[in-house]
Amino acid sequence: MADTYDLAVVGGGAAGLTAAISAARRGNSVAVLERLPSPGRKILATGGGRCNLLNEGLAPSSFTSTDPALVASVLERFGRREIREFFSGLGLRLQADEKGRVYPATNQAASVLKVLELEVRRLGVQVEAGFVVGRVEPRAGGFRLRAADSRAVEGRAVILAGGGKAYPALGSDGSCYGLAASFGHRIVTPVPSAVPLLVKDRMCHLLQGQRLLVRAGSRIGGRAGRTAEGELLFTQYGLSGTAVLDISEDISIALNRDGLRDVAVVVDLLPDMTAADVAGELSRRMKAGWETRSLVSGLLPEKLGPLVPQLAGEAGAAAGKGDPREKARRLAGALKRMEFAVQGTRGWNEAEFTAGGVDAREVKPGTLESRLRGGLYFAGEVLDVQGGRGGFNLAWAWATGLAAGLTE
Ligand SMILES: Cc1cc2nc3c(=O)[nH]c(=O)nc-3n(C[C@H](O)[C@H](O)[C@H](O)COP(=O)(O)OP(=O)(O)OC[C@H]3O[C@@H](n4cnc5c(N)ncnc54)[C@H](O)[C@@H]3O)c2cc1C
Repeated sequence: MADTYDLAVVGGGAAGLTAAISAARRGNSVAVLERLPSPGRKILATGGGRCNLLNEGLAPSSFTSTDPALVASVLERFGRREIREFFSGLGLRLQADEKGRVYPATNQAASVLKVLELEVRRLGVQVEAGFVVGRVEPRAGGFRLRAADSRAVEGRAVILAGGGKAYPALGSDGSCYGLAASFGHRIVTPVPSAVPLLVKDRMCHLLQGQRLLVRAGSRIGGRAGRTAEGELLFTQYGLSGTAVLDISEDISIALNRDGLRDVAVVVDLLPDMTAADVAGELSRRMKAGWETRSLVSGLLPEKLGPLVPQLAGEAGAAAGKGDPREKARRLAGALKRMEFAVQGTRGWNEAEFTAGGVDAREVKPGTLESRLRGGLYFAGEVLDVQGGRGGFNLAWAWATGLAAGLTE
């Protein structure tokens, strides 16, 4: 006989543990079924081991989704204040940085997981580790959840909180999509997001390892998309760094979901100077007789120096020829608008997030119950809701966990 619980939660990640706590605090018997040997492994890896668990600017507009109304309904009830209260109630001190990113005051993701685990234990939640849910079968009065080995658990209600497909080594392998689809749910094609990009360009090879503060933007089918300011890292395979991760979602959707090929990253290497100022400075240096490869010295890292003759040439003004002011203007243009054609992304193993998932329109606002099957709920990254980097995605996991855990 399988053990029967009021609630069975598939996945012991950020959303699943929070949902379990939320439901158990209301007196429900709860089981968390987690495929890895212990829950919360991804939490430990977040924020570079510091866990950026919230953003002070949390708002529905921080997210994209097939159903923005669903996002608003959840955050209305469990917003920034409620998430802060939830963690301070668990005994976790928080601190925010100048960009509004909230971290545990210990600066350790392990503190976040620890307080969640202590509460799970205090409430008597049953955590079944190494339990890979392979099937969720409807039964009279609830569901039977079966593992690949012959284990089974019954739940009067079920929350699917198995995450998306990003970073499968940390547990989320996309299997919850299949479980949701078995109840007729539509899955918006998941693609990797917050992911480094593949670019075949000699510049990347030559500048390998170079970090720069830039403004980067996407250009898809000739149209300018999102922009972000931050770090650009040239790598052997292409481009990475926070600015690139921040604009990668639209690019990944264009390449991996929509099958588009005309996709590029446009980089401004000198975002704090206008094109006219850059041209003026370059022109002054040319008139003073600076050699071409030294023209950007002091403006940009020295590693770029040897590339300047090529850039000047590409900009249509071969070194040493033509009107210096025109040559300076063109070189400034090349530095302010450097374009890299993108061939692909580095894929799931290097993605921080999933864009896509269970169609949010098929989920009831507020409660997160399936519109297709009563007693079935969703929480976290499994839903087609994506936030920017900076603590928004974990905020979504906590907020949806708290909301779905209110299941009747
Ligand atoms: C390296 C990295 C760093 C990140 N840093 C940040 C950050 O600082 N701030 C931020 O806001 N976001 C960050 N994110 C994103 C954030 O971690 C996720 O959005 C969030 O963890 C999603 O929570 P979740 O509970 O929905 O899914 P997950 O955390 O992925 O948890 C899902 C759980 O379900 C389990 N599971 C899956 N399928 C099954 C199954 N069939 N049976 C049983 N168990 C199953 C998995 O093993 C996993 O433990 C980061 C992501 C990565 C990969």
